[in-house]
Amino acid sequence: MNSPTNFSCEFFPPVTAEGLGKLQAARQQLLALRPAYFSVTYGAGGSTRDRTVEIVLDTQAHSGVPAAPHLTCIAATRDSIRELLNHYKAHGIRRIVALRGDMPSGMRDPGEFRYANELVSFIRAEFGDYFYLEVAAYPEYHPQAPSPEKDLENFQRKVEAGASSAITQYFYNPDAYFRFVDRCAGLGINLPIVPGIMPITNFTQLARFSDACGAEIPRWIRKTLESFGDDREAIRAFGLDVVSELCRKLLEGGAPGLHFYTMNQAGLILTLGERLGLIAR
Ligand code: FAD
Repeated sequence: MNSPTNFSCEFFPPVTAEGLGKLQAARQQLLALRPAYFSVTYGAGGSTRDRTVEIVLDTQAHSGVPAAPHLTCIAATRDSIRELLNHYKAHGIRRIVALRGDMPSGMRDPGEFRYANELVSFIRAEFGDYFYLEVAAYPEYHPQAPSPEKDLENFQRKVEAGASSAITQYFYNPDAYFRFVDRCAGLGINLPIVPGIMPITNFTQLARFSDACGAEIPRWIRKTLESFGDDREAIRAFGLDVVSELCRKLLEGGAPGLHFYTMNQAGLILTLGERLGLIAR
């Protein structure tokens, strides 16, 4: 399941019928990458539950590529998680991206699960090896972790609880990824750690999101993007250069695949795929 051509694409569940049409069109175009699976995010506290289920089942039924729902456990109960997983199982879903998630604003009680390792343990206890379980990894460390060492220990907990493979938070510094993988290997963690790749389109949005999730935009990239102001073409061209170079270094350095954060758009990912020689021009 994790050959060197393990490419995957992530979508978010759209709100409107127009958004759904765009997602379906992007999904169709992204078949050119021959992805191993398409994943679908899950809103904080289960806020997109029904829409996530709808897109997952639509993808599984119509794209010809396995669908992998993201599932967050914060604010969930064992019963609600069991019910949802049984629903997915009944529709032939075999891969889950198992996450803690973040507490929705205004909510104080984390519910029956506090961390992703507890979700992974629960799924293994209830469903055995039926599901292939992806978990999140943070080469630049999770923003709430008290130290890099503690974050690694916590990552190890998820692995020991039964994770099959990991997808990273996005990053733009390949050294952070390689160092993280080396540190994992030093701890005996040898599951595939697939880099998450975020194309660059909108600097303001990317900067805001990166600050929140603890992903670093290196100064030279930030400064260059800032200098382009509203020139979307310049941002796109520079972003493509930066991200294709990143992907090339990752694959040449032995990354077991790439997981693309598509933002429900195919264009940049396809251009990246062409530049990397993954798609015939
Ligand atoms: P955890 O692994 O539980 O870690 C969270 C924090 O707690 C870390 O700081 C860790 O060091 C610490 N920790 C972990 N276990 C323990 C423990 N046992 N004891 C003490 N401390 C511990 N969010 C969504 O809402 N929906 C999505 O669909 C979604 N998809 C994502 C996909 C990917 C590939 C990634 C990388 C992230 C995604 N997120 C999503 C964001 C994610 O939910 C947040 O980053 C969240 O803050 C952490 O989730 P986690 O599963 O990594 O948590």
